[in-house]
Amino acid sequence: METTVLKKRIFLSSPHMSGSEMKYIEEAFQTNWITSMGSNIDAFEKEIATLVGSTEAVAVSSGTAAIHLALSLLNVTRGDKVFCSSLTFVASANPILYQGAEPVFIDSEPETWNMSPLALERALSDAVQSGELPKAVIIVNLYGQPAKMNELLAICNHYQVPIIEDAAESLGATYQGKASGTLGDIGVFSFNGNKIITSSGGGMIVSDNKELLKKARFLASQAKDDAPHYQHSVVGFNYRMSNILAGIGRGQLEHLTHRVETRRFIFKRYFEELNHLPGLSFMPELANTRSNRWLTSFTLNENEAKTSVHHLISCLAEENIEARPVWKPLHSQPLFQNSRYYPHKLEESVSEQLFKNGICLPSGSNMTEEEQTRVIDVIQNTLQQY
Ligand SMILES: *Cc1c(COP(=O)(O)O)cnc(C)c1O
Repeated sequence: METTVLKKRIFLSSPHMSGSEMKYIEEAFQTNWITSMGSNIDAFEKEIATLVGSTEAVAVSSGTAAIHLALSLLNVTRGDKVFCSSLTFVASANPILYQGAEPVFIDSEPETWNMSPLALERALSDAVQSGELPKAVIIVNLYGQPAKMNELLAICNHYQVPIIEDAAESLGATYQGKASGTLGDIGVFSFNGNKIITSSGGGMIVSDNKELLKKARFLASQAKDDAPHYQHSVVGFNYRMSNILAGIGRGQLEHLTHRVETRRFIFKRYFEELNHLPGLSFMPELANTRSNRWLTSFTLNENEAKTSVHHLISCLAEENIEARPVWKPLHSQPLFQNSRYYPHKLEESVSEQLFKNGICLPSGSNMTEEEQTRVIDVIQNTLQQY
């Protein structure tokens, strides 16, 4: 009888433990600071703030919680409009719905795959005319690539709309020398298991506005008023990070620089081995920015490549390799079918094209050279068949 030995699974991006995590976890146990206070949390917040050069940071239970808190801090409530990148993970926009607010989705532009300044300008000038300026704009830095922040900031400043920078995927990336996540009014990071570093689950809010972050701490811990009894005047959340998980985050953070270098090296190798293939274009890196290359991605021109991304993904799956299409734009999700959408140009929806033709490759910093060779071989064999 024939037996097939399944090759070892290659994941898109799996947790990469460094060995430095346990000392911080043990410290938490030894001092019995097990829950939502303790030295790991305080230190993790300081370490992130120092790394990105923001005044302060507040650790929370997830990146999604961080975005939700950011909207709360900007007083987003029922009926308000919030603009958001369309080409992103649903967690960028779900908190808009938690607040009972209404998302308006903004397309990408081709040079960063991130929010199109043209589409944003059109959306804001419409909003002014109808007297419905958004309370915030959520700008995502996709797959570790910073958005065109100068252009987007100029537009938002003109209309005086605050920016929440969703840097969940771009920790360690820079824009004109500044840390991604520090260019807007509030920045948000995620330490979910698939991100460039993980605390097993967690998030962080950064800002230079101390008052805002003081309020973030207050809201994240059930909004307890200053009174001897339990007293509450506003809605709060239970969103604080645990001291154990902050310990994991600290152990991971020690290795961030190396993780970024490794992911960039993985990108470089894919690029060198595959870029010559017909119809294949890698995600660009904007001048004066340094992506963390969280996920290597490219688009395939079906006519030139004579095959589809869909087919390529199934060929990789046959070899037990995980590859995924680029995020499905949120404006085309059933959840948001009634939301407004502003394309890059009136006749050109960039995010829809990227979704149709884009693929994300295994990019974990713990992927071996051999494993990457397996991925490269499948792609070369599939595309050279035609
Ligand atoms: C992962 C991610 C989030 C959510 O972070 P969690 O920690 O998983 O809640 C938000 N936005 C983007 C773009 C993400 O990739």
